[in-house]
Amino acid sequence: MEADRVDVAPSLALCGATVVVALDPPEVVAADVVLAGDRVVAVGTAPAGVPRRDCSGTVVVPGNVCAHHHLYSALSRGMPYRLPPPTTFTEILQRVWWRLDRALDEQAVRASALRGGLDALRAGTTTIVDHHASPHAIDGSLDVIADALAELGIRSVLCYEVSDRDGPATAAAGIAENRRFLTRSVGLARGMVGAHASFTMADDTLAAVVEAARHGGAGVHIHVAEDAADQHDAHARHGIGVVERLDRAGVLTDRALLAHCVHVVPAEIHAVVDSGATVACNARSNMNNVVGHSPFNHVRPRAGSGVALGTDGIGGDMFTESQVGWLRAREADGDTAADWPLARLADGARFAGRVHGEPLLGTLRPGAPADLVVLDYPTPTPLTADNLAGHWVFGLSAAQVRDVLVAGELVVADRRSTRVDELDVAASGSREAARLWARMDTIPPHDFEPQRSGP
Ligand SMILES: [Zn+2]
Repeated sequence: MEADRVDVAPSLALCGATVVVALDPPEVVAADVVLAGDRVVAVGTAPAGVPRRDCSGTVVVPGNVCAHHHLYSALSRGMPYRLPPPTTFTEILQRVWWRLDRALDEQAVRASALRGGLDALRAGTTTIVDHHASPHAIDGSLDVIADALAELGIRSVLCYEVSDRDGPATAAAGIAENRRFLTRSVGLARGMVGAHASFTMADDTLAAVVEAARHGGAGVHIHVAEDAADQHDAHARHGIGVVERLDRAGVLTDRALLAHCVHVVPAEIHAVVDSGATVACNARSNMNNVVGHSPFNHVRPRAGSGVALGTDGIGGDMFTESQVGWLRAREADGDTAADWPLARLADGARFAGRVHGEPLLGTLRPGAPADLVVLDYPTPTPLTADNLAGHWVFGLSAAQVRDVLVAGELVVADRRSTRVDELDVAASGSREAARLWARMDTIPPHDFEPQRSGP
């Protein structure tokens, strides 16, 4: 009983900040945030005797969630490219990402997770939903990532992306890795079952993925219609669209996470929304790959489903991602309101909160996990619930991140990780990147091709 009382005694107070208690709908108060262990216990006036951290002149926000990431891409920045420039999305996969993933060994997976995880934390992202591939180093790869992220102190949802593109043994190893990790999920890491995309999966592999998810009580995390090639392949091989194929296979559940959903027709949008699945839009990636603009950027989901945001591996900065995503949505329809990023980020937090059994994740309400970010943002104009959206899209930035707490622990303090030596992470990342790039140079373009058909 004594231990219980110690657990709930306030352990830290963040004092004097403008506090964003929730994003959707926005709630903003001038207050202290009082923590006990891994929880927020009060937003108000800190009691006497509690250790205090001065946060005057700051804005405290719930930690951001990146709902679709590929940490394995963290060492790709600046890598040389010596092949003919890709002209299609399929060629981008064949010549870049399906060469990089086959070059990954366990050391590179670890260095990528450390680098990408640290970048995310320093940008104010406290939860990463990752989609991992390393076809020549599958067994135990999710443990390697979980352990690296545990060193940093960041929350995560991990999976291995199952695919038939590297043959049946690799697909089976991917399924086994997901199943194994789902039984392990400890600390701040949880599991899903990963799948690459409809166009690289045979029916029996897709069925095995769904069975693994059912068995583990988890959802499937899969790319959906990122490019028109995915739809063409589904029609050519199966005579139906991607969403119908996934629905028939049992992928579409309220635990599923569907990345992109760019090339989807209205009936498919309805099927996804009705299933309660969460969609992760990735505006910067879609623009970079020139694959199109997801209609889900303009869907207001009903309760239970959601439209979240991810980076698709372009770093872990959700301030930039949400700002660019909003600008792209606004350009597309002319009237997307400034509160769009707040709703999208709240949906991402709700999804991660469901996986973690933390319904208050993404808020700073009493009882919520203390995942929060202190922004050095002496507000240039008044900041209220009514204008938080305007500050979010035109004022806030990852460059303002001063402190980050995850589960009540100060894991970034005064712009530095409290857990790892950032220069060591940089040095080992550079070393591993050089090894990775050299191995990648010896790997030819992948020869896997989706089936083609008319639209
Ligand atoms: Zn992706």
